[in-house]
Amino acid sequence: MEFRHTMPRNNLIFGKGVLAQIGEEAKKIGTTALIVTGKTSMKKLGFLDKVRKTLENSGVNTLHYGGAVPNPTTNVIDEGAAREDLRHKYDLVIGLGGGSSIDTAKAIAILAGHPETESIWNFTSLSEKPRSITAKTLPIIAINSTSGTGSHVNHYFVLTNPATSEKPGVASEYIFPRASFVDIEILSKMPPELTAMTGFDALTHALEGLVSRQSNPISELYGLRAVELIFQYLPVAYKEPDNQKARECVALADTYAGWSDQLVGCVVPHALGHAVGGHYPEVAHGEVLAAVTPAVMRFNIENGNELIWKKYCLAAQRMERAISSPYTKKKAVASVEMIEELLQNIELDISLKQLGVLEEMLSELARNAIRTVGECVDLNPVKADYEDLINLLKKSM
Ligand code: NDP
Ligand code: MN
Repeated sequence: MEFRHTMPRNNLIFGKGVLAQIGEEAKKIGTTALIVTGKTSMKKLGFLDKVRKTLENSGVNTLHYGGAVPNPTTNVIDEGAAREDLRHKYDLVIGLGGGSSIDTAKAIAILAGHPETESIWNFTSLSEKPRSITAKTLPIIAINSTSGTGSHVNHYFVLTNPATSEKPGVASEYIFPRASFVDIEILSKMPPELTAMTGFDALTHALEGLVSRQSNPISELYGLRAVELIFQYLPVAYKEPDNQKARECVALADTYAGWSDQLVGCVVPHALGHAVGGHYPEVAHGEVLAAVTPAVMRFNIENGNELIWKKYCLAAQRMERAISSPYTKKKAVASVEMIEELLQNIELDISLKQLGVLEEMLSELARNAIRTVGECVDLNPVKADYEDLINLLKKSM
């Protein structure tokens, strides 16, 4: 066994009501904060006001950009960074919301630190002349309002280019949040459908990390515990939005899964998820993952070896299936059955067709996955080529 374990400096503030500490934390980092949110939820639920007041009381000035959209686009990010009334007026960026708002905040922090660059797209490897993200990136604080993406504790942001239908992830050490707030009060406001979709996203980060070619004993600790917590508590959080214990456990799982993603990345479900998301941005990330994950797991088990079967068996054990060694192909299938059962319990057993994906798009989607998120294809425990990806998409229809 040989591996390297590096983890950026984490500063996680977790619990009910921890938002009250945002001012104290922010004033260590900056003097004027740009708060990035989506269009409605954080304002309507009162959390935007609460954050602004707490910051101002601690002597931190605040500005607001409320333009983040689900599956953020290059346009929305560029616009947020270029707005005359905000430009050059802040030294700290706070993402308040789901993965979309936190990712938009990360991207704006990059552009604000590199004002000579016009579009965030230039920082992706798909750009004609890719630019590097440097230490000039402004510092970021993340405040989670969903439990799914792990963006509050990782060095990625994901963006969609509507002109090319590409949805890559971008990694940089400079966008790892300086502080990550997980406040159960905000998370308890998620409606059941959002709880289900985002919780399933976290589950896939854990499961995919577990079988990633880069997985190591430390990432596996996070992955397996996240699987266990989500199986036990996501259905509870789905049915009882105010159940604090369930919210806490799913939020912890999201954090563990975010660390797993940070350490070892994701595999084919996320490659397909991003390709579908690039072409169908109105579909939620968690929904696409729900549609493709069972087929990919079956493919990995069918074509896998003892090590892969063992990992899926260990995951199934955490889903409370009594499985003992030897870990065979047949026993590994229990993990997929459990996933399918969970998807039914949280009413997320859905197909790509139901999500609006057209049959004639499948070859383009497979090409897009390889071109845009090739690293997730490469990390899959079983080699998956273009034809395999088309077959997996077909099976998910
Ligand atoms: P979003 O941030 O897209 O939010 C989805 C919707 O839920 C929005 O309409 C939002 O409203 C609303 N909402 C958010 N929180 C609450 C709440 N507490 N109560 C009520 N409504 C709420 O969802 P996700 O967290 O799933 O983020 C998805 C994005 O993250 C995708 O772009 C995906 O690709 C990306 N992603 C990033 C990763 C990373 O590592 N950086 C990893 C995985 C996914 P409003 O818009 O009004 O705020
Ligand atoms: Mn994801």
